[in-house]
Amino acid sequence: MRHQLPLGIFLRAHSDLRDWLAFAREIGLETCHLAIHSSCLPTPSQRQWLAEVLRQYGVRVTVVFCLFEGEDYSDIPTVARTVGLVPAEFREERLGKAKEIADLASWLGAPAIGLHLGFIPDERNSPAYGTILAVTRELAEHCRKLGLALHLETGQETADQLLSFLNQLGEPNVAVNFDPANMILYGKGDPVAAARRLAHHVRSIHCKDALWADAPGQEWGREVPIGEGDVHFPELLRVLLDSGYRAPLTIERETAGERLREDIAKAAAYLRDLLRRL
Ligand code: MG
Repeated sequence: MRHQLPLGIFLRAHSDLRDWLAFAREIGLETCHLAIHSSCLPTPSQRQWLAEVLRQYGVRVTVVFCLFEGEDYSDIPTVARTVGLVPAEFREERLGKAKEIADLASWLGAPAIGLHLGFIPDERNSPAYGTILAVTRELAEHCRKLGLALHLETGQETADQLLSFLNQLGEPNVAVNFDPANMILYGKGDPVAAARRLAHHVRSIHCKDALWADAPGQEWGREVPIGEGDVHFPELLRVLLDSGYRAPLTIERETAGERLREDIAKAAAYLRDLLRRL
């Protein structure tokens, strides 16, 4: 059976956005996840500019991603200390910024925002766990009033931990942004097995690949171009398609370098070919 899922690209709302949108169209990508950094939320005139360039290039934003000032991905313990809404010292300010980003997403006509919550505490009965549930619920309610979904990106917990969190949260507009490479990079479990557990919650995907670390969970795995890593994309897409996934396949390549655009173009060709064969 031939599937026609739209392909997309993960972009940051930097000054070179126009250039990236032109590249996206050149290789036939028609959707994007647009990352907004909390330290440079667009002014009203920048908002107009954003809407205008997106319209001009005909690229549809399917998720607006929240990046926060102070986040540091240097190594896994630093991520635990600095990323998302889990670290207490940043929480209130970031919650406010995430709401502003949701307002922007709604204004742009995007259907969802996404973010890393951070390392959700293991102990379900602990006050820390309750706090994260409460803060996620508050953001989910803000999103719901705007008609938006809230997508939690995978990576910092196992599929079972995330599933348990979603079940306890019980918010119908909260879903999963499945990043299979993150499962490997953080050492949190086989991506295909994780997709099987989470499939009915997955509403967006980052198509990214990675190799396992020698000591998974203690040191980073290594991100590599799609098709060269340990994510088994044919099986992964089969699982997601079988569960009814019909949203875009959004290509993400985090490692910058001279071959960045070449890698992304190859990823698009790889995914198109795969969709034809599935
Ligand atoms: Mg990602």
